[in-house]
Amino acid sequence: IQGAPGSVAVVVPSEPHALTVTYQDLVAETAAFQQKLAAIGIAHGAPVSIATVNSYEFIVSFLAASWQRAIAAPLNPAYKQDEFEFYIDDVKSAIVLVPRGAYQAASPAVKAAQRFNAAIAECYWDAGNREVALDVKELGQLQGKPAHPVLAPQPDDTALVLHTSGTTSRPKVVPLSHRNLTRTMRNIQQTYQLTPSDRTMLVMPLFHVHGLLCGLLAPLLSGGSMIVPAKFSAATFWRDYTSHAANWYTAVPTIHQILLKHPPPSPLPTIRFIRSCSSPLSPTVFHALEKTYNAPVLEAYAMTEAAHQMTSNPLPSVGKRKPGTVGLGQGVEVVILNEAGAVMPQGTEGEICIKGENVTRGYLNNAEANKSAFTSDGYFRTGDQGKKDEDGYVVITGRIKELINKGGEKISPIELDNVLTRHEAVSEAVSFAIPDEMYGQEIGVAVVLKPGARLGEGELKAWVGERLARFKVPKKVYFTDVMPKTATGKIQRRIVAETMQKQEG
Ligand code: ATP
Ligand code: MG
Repeated sequence: IQGAPGSVAVVVPSEPHALTVTYQDLVAETAAFQQKLAAIGIAHGAPVSIATVNSYEFIVSFLAASWQRAIAAPLNPAYKQDEFEFYIDDVKSAIVLVPRGAYQAASPAVKAAQRFNAAIAECYWDAGNREVALDVKELGQLQGKPAHPVLAPQPDDTALVLHTSGTTSRPKVVPLSHRNLTRTMRNIQQTYQLTPSDRTMLVMPLFHVHGLLCGLLAPLLSGGSMIVPAKFSAATFWRDYTSHAANWYTAVPTIHQILLKHPPPSPLPTIRFIRSCSSPLSPTVFHALEKTYNAPVLEAYAMTEAAHQMTSNPLPSVGKRKPGTVGLGQGVEVVILNEAGAVMPQGTEGEICIKGENVTRGYLNNAEANKSAFTSDGYFRTGDQGKKDEDGYVVITGRIKELINKGGEKISPIELDNVLTRHEAVSEAVSFAIPDEMYGQEIGVAVVLKPGARLGEGELKAWVGERLARFKVPKKVYFTDVMPKTATGKIQRRIVAETMQKQEG
């Protein structure tokens, strides 16, 4: 935390708990909360699960846990009981922090915590006492533990554990050290030249690396301010952005697309840049954003195992933006390797592999995944397929596990999605493999049409046939009203594939 004591760190715009907090307040509040954790026996290595929406109490409890050498383990507060049980069991939470009233209501997080004998505490902003309260309801496994002294974290302590999104398989547990987090914070600060005068509109959830590292921690390191509504709402986004004088934001493509469906604010506020990350941003949406908001759009590439950012397109003052690419390595070394581990020249596809101080040491309790996660030279295998273009910009062509293998021909679902969404009647398109007797795998596509638009299967296939090689024309088109997505707006191709084939009967 590097802000000047008197400058604003956090603004919570939403009533009834609207709040403006200076850096001095934030540091004092975090130290006070650290003492509360220490007093109930939280110490080095204890997993502290935080199951609250974006809020001041999330920020304080997250920072306090890591100051105490404990391990912050944020959870999506919208999980159902089964999901809480899965995650609480997986990270072995010592305590689960829930919102005010959750205990009385026996919320799913509370029931799951009870099942694994984790301590349970409500954590909330107490406006009367002007403090972040830690209201312990059950001590669980902390019962009988003596109060612990206040500690100071070491660079190689695990500060955070998070799960990967589970897009391609069961979510994997990723431990990230203070060293890993600090490296990413510095990389992000440098990429976007963040300074104390920057004001971030933080709308990505803090229980994933995107919101946590880019929306919160990098701005804290830079001494800037962040505006933190409980969650993204298209109805209030530009109102909060404008009234609190934000000047940049980062989000997933789904959020950008939702915003584009609403009229832009008039007059346009200052937008130093718009960052897009976590899923592919189609060039169509890129151009629509730049035109609508008259601001540079910087697409970046990130993953949980890298403590978020690996590459990004540069600011206009630094270099050119190339839509359809995720830009250049930012404090992270990026190479493209073939199956034998040889470095591929520009233009040739292979697996995107990375090296940097930000990368996790390895998954927790997953010897099998760790065996194949690193090359013998210490590069981390991202599992993403891609290449470098003539300027060295990274182009992601798909996930290795999601490539459609049609009788040995590998087809990138992203390439196909991009061609389909260029059709004026198509709003969303997701391509995936379907089983096929002849080829092993064939191409299926799920398509959502724009309101009122009409389009036949034959017309859409012809559209693809005119633009891509014959073997890339989908065999089956599934028209659907809604595209299944995860809580964070990610497309899970295997889920879309299952849902479409089930709907079909
Ligand atoms: P799992 O590893 O459990 O299958 P996941 O990889 O989706 O899930 P995350 O760590 O949340 O879990 O996401 C990282 C992945 O997101 C990257 O490996 C990449 O496939 C994808 N991704 C991130 N940014 C971009 C981007 N700008 N364009 C395309 N894909 C992206
Ligand atoms: Mg992954």
